[in-house]
Amino acid sequence: MKSGRQRRVEIMLRRQEKRLANSAKNKYLHGLSAASQYGMPHGSVPVNPANLNPNNSYGIPEIVKRGFYVDMPFICKHCGTPQIWTAQQQHWWYELAKGDVWTIAVLCRPCRIKERERKALARKIHLEGVLRKVQLSNNKLPREITANKQLMTQI
Ligand SMILES: [Zn+2]
Repeated sequence: MKSGRQRRVEIMLRRQEKRLANSAKNKYLHGLSAASQYGMPHGSVPVNPANLNPNNSYGIPEIVKRGFYVDMPFICKHCGTPQIWTAQQQHWWYELAKGDVWTIAVLCRPCRIKERERKALARKIHLEGVLRKVQLSNNKLPREITANKQLMTQI
């Protein structure tokens, strides 16, 4: 018959063994990528909703529902080349660049660069036009006013 004290020692030893086994298991789990631990596909990146650009919509974006970003194939709207919008690129767009949560990639990189240049040129032409208009009206205005003044004095 074992004494109470012996039994207590046995129980403590068994507990210690369990703790060690658990810590080994935890270490093994933490060594794995966060993605595979949560059953996410390889290469996916977890979503942190706190970093997303706030929006007034009542709907919940797909990325928030899913909880992680996955590589997304798409076809460039301009040149038709099949592309992949990677999980990392999505993480950057939504959480660092604070892109709208309802937007997705539609253009490949070369087309995006071309589009940016086209927009910049269009903006430049527009602003030059506005400037010309302002200068024209500035030149015209005083003449109109002086003409009116001359008319007024004639009457
Ligand atoms: Zn393209």
